Amino acid sequence: MKLAERMNTLTPSTTLAITAKANEMKAQGIDVIGLGAGEPDFNTPEHIIEAAYQSMINGQTKYTPAGGLQELKNAIIEKFLADQQIRYEPAEIIVTNGAKHALYTLFQVLLDDGDEVIIPSPYWVSYPEQVKLAGGEPVIVEGLEENQFKISPEQLRSKITKKTKAIVINSPSNPTGVMYTEEELHAIGIVCMENNLLIISDEIYEKLVYGNGKHVSIAQISNELKEQTIIINGVSKSHAMTGWRIGYAAGNKEIIKKMTSLASHSTSNPTTTSQYAAISAYRGSQHAVKEMQKQFEKRLTIIYDKLIAIPGFTCIKPEGAFYLFPNVIEAAKNCGYSNVDDFAKALLEEAHVAVVPGSGFGSPDNIRLSYATSLNLLEEAIRRINHYVLKHM
Ligand code: PLP
Repeated sequence: MKLAERMNTLTPSTTLAITAKANEMKAQGIDVIGLGAGEPDFNTPEHIIEAAYQSMINGQTKYTPAGGLQELKNAIIEKFLADQQIRYEPAEIIVTNGAKHALYTLFQVLLDDGDEVIIPSPYWVSYPEQVKLAGGEPVIVEGLEENQFKISPEQLRSKITKKTKAIVINSPSNPTGVMYTEEELHAIGIVCMENNLLIISDEIYEKLVYGNGKHVSIAQISNELKEQTIIINGVSKSHAMTGWRIGYAAGNKEIIKKMTSLASHSTSNPTTTSQYAAISAYRGSQHAVKEMQKQFEKRLTIIYDKLIAIPGFTCIKPEGAFYLFPNVIEAAKNCGYSNVDDFAKALLEEAHVAVVPGSGFGSPDNIRLSYATSLNLLEEAIRRINHYVLKHM
């Protein structure tokens, strides 16, 4: 049977391909260390699990409104006020099946065929694919490594056409871990306001920030920027809740209303139990969130120096999220490979370390390593990579 044309434009996920290959090798008994993971290695804090259980015992096992429970929306509103001093109304919030679903629904609501969305590279793999699925055109603006992978207002301006509808900002970023400062966001925001671009601010790594860094949402800079922005966030990364599938979007009422209509005909409400878990995540103790953040920071501090000591590796020091995104083209060439995809394949097959090639993130000279795994395994993985590089150069 001939399937829909739009499926032909989908690029398979490189992250999933590497994970599948690594799992296949593990099943054959090979001791592979996987650094491909995009999720915290901690379990969900116990009080959240307990709240979910209690909600089920109390009979909260039915449909909720498609856009989410009022109580959860209120908890999200309280979180915005406490963390970012941004005031939203319930009609400005939709709860979705993860942040990914919030983004998917937003692009479906926003884009007509041929509408353009500006995506800074390196980017999270799903942005361009979701834009294409909605009939839109992803327009990539290259974040240069010498500029910490951040785009400038001039670069943004040069890509704007009559068809540009929106820009995606992801800070802290997957895959680079870099974070925009308030001044940088302000300068980008001015260009967006001048050109009436919707700012889609993906803040899913907001709670994973290190050193003296401070996360700033572009929507908290001014009222005008708040009006121009849809914030995307969720509990997956902050509260180690990837499997619960709770995310949300906050912003313009009309957009949120249409997103809610679309959800009502596609997914209905996010899982009821998970919504109760998310209420507890936001209203309960944040101790575990801080503890996980500390653990990630400790790992980063220890392995960053070891990583950049590998010959042919250079790496920007991340300020957030849980990824390292070293440029390894020199190391690849030293080992006899003309491209990093082949080098990453060799690291998996010969050094038994699974990393994700940067090509999937629009940055072919880099690899992404996740440090959402134990320090012991991380140190062993870096030792293996170093050994491989030294042996083959
Ligand atoms: N945005 C970014 C940048 C991500 O890295 C991820 C997950 O990897 C998501 C959104 C989606 O998160 P969720 O699990 O809430 O769908």
